[in-house]
Amino acid sequence: MPSLQDMLDQVDRLTEEIVELEQSLVRIPSVNTGYMPTGDETKVTNFIGDWLSNEGLTSQVLARDPERGNIISVYPGEQERSRLMFMSHTDVVPVENYDKWRFEPFSATIEGGRIYGRGANDCKALLTCQLMAMAILERNDVRLEHSLRLVSGADEEHGGRWGFGWLADNHPESLESDFAVNEGGGTPVEIGNSLSYLLGTGEKGRMEIKITFRGESTHASVPWTGRNASYSLAKALGSIETYEAERDTSLPIWDHLGKFTIEQRPTPENVEAVIAEAEEKSPRLASLLRALSRMVLTPTMINGGIKSNSVPETFELVCDVRTLPFQTEEYVRKQLDEVLAGVEGVEYEIDYMSVPNSSEFDTPLADAIRRAQSLAVERDDIQWVPAVSNGFTDSRFTRNLGIVTYGFAGSHPDDDPMLSMAHGTNESVGIASLISGTKCMIALAHDMCGAK
Ligand SMILES: [Zn+2]
Repeated sequence: MPSLQDMLDQVDRLTEEIVELEQSLVRIPSVNTGYMPTGDETKVTNFIGDWLSNEGLTSQVLARDPERGNIISVYPGEQERSRLMFMSHTDVVPVENYDKWRFEPFSATIEGGRIYGRGANDCKALLTCQLMAMAILERNDVRLEHSLRLVSGADEEHGGRWGFGWLADNHPESLESDFAVNEGGGTPVEIGNSLSYLLGTGEKGRMEIKITFRGESTHASVPWTGRNASYSLAKALGSIETYEAERDTSLPIWDHLGKFTIEQRPTPENVEAVIAEAEEKSPRLASLLRALSRMVLTPTMINGGIKSNSVPETFELVCDVRTLPFQTEEYVRKQLDEVLAGVEGVEYEIDYMSVPNSSEFDTPLADAIRRAQSLAVERDDIQWVPAVSNGFTDSRFTRNLGIVTYGFAGSHPDDDPMLSMAHGTNESVGIASLISGTKCMIALAHDMCGAK
């Protein structure tokens, strides 16, 4: 059997094939609007199933809706139970404005060492790396002590009710594994000569808050005979805009800022100065630190008014709230009550989209990740920092099942994460990251599943 290094060398020679696989996946427009029927993920799972079968690997599709398949493939080890699970998702978010894109969003056009397209980064890049890793293991007849599992789910972009959430509730055996790697971390931060990677160990929570403002409708020609709900809305918006969230520096990431050559010891009192210092070194790091130092409250949608000559009776404002791991619903209610104090005719409802969650930082998978990334990009000076992500992913479902799950994609340090534009215009992935990512996934499987 070839050595791990032999297989990593093979990846370089397979660049063209890796790029083609990524392009094929991006060219299947599995757009998830959040409203059924949508997603069409089965088109992707059909493609993957055929592709795996050509490689001599089996797979299975489990679906709550026939058009929204979830694909599961097991690379069998001597022990049936999976030690490692490769996670990803097949759906992509809609394209907001086609005209702003430099290339047709589902063309997977290559330019300047990058592949452009909706889903090129989120999450078809990681999926490509994981599929290629499995195929390369198989092509080399690698025998594993413990099984390796690949699961790519539907509906990640709208809550996972047809994907990992549904699998976790209805087919938990399909997710059986000790460890898992998923999107949502493993991004490089280079400051001067020092290279650090943020390992996704946890995620902020997300809530949707629906605030209703009630007035009294009347004819717009005599507005004083009613009460216009839009003024209450205006007051609330003003108060949200000036809301100063309580600062917090208790997450583990704050103990690691020395790795980014930030010498001040962060406290809730000096955290703004610390973030300003980070801003000069890495705007992206500063943005993350800002998100990890407070609850974030953002108005996102407004609805109201029924006729241009009627004083509106109700307005509805939807806000997105991101909480830190220890910020409970009670905490959020207290904040909202303060923000909305003095606004007339107001009430609100909280809808939990994702509860904050995390895995430990000190595990065999974290060790394997360090080794894999170092081998893949040929650097032995990488520092690792545990980071809670400001977004959320399917990892919350697997963490709930007791599976240690990290956000880790094996990105290349030369591939600037600012260019990835996940969910944005001109989303893309650097080909260098597809290569290093594939190497990382091979090395992880090799180490964690015990290649013989
Ligand atoms: Zn994603």
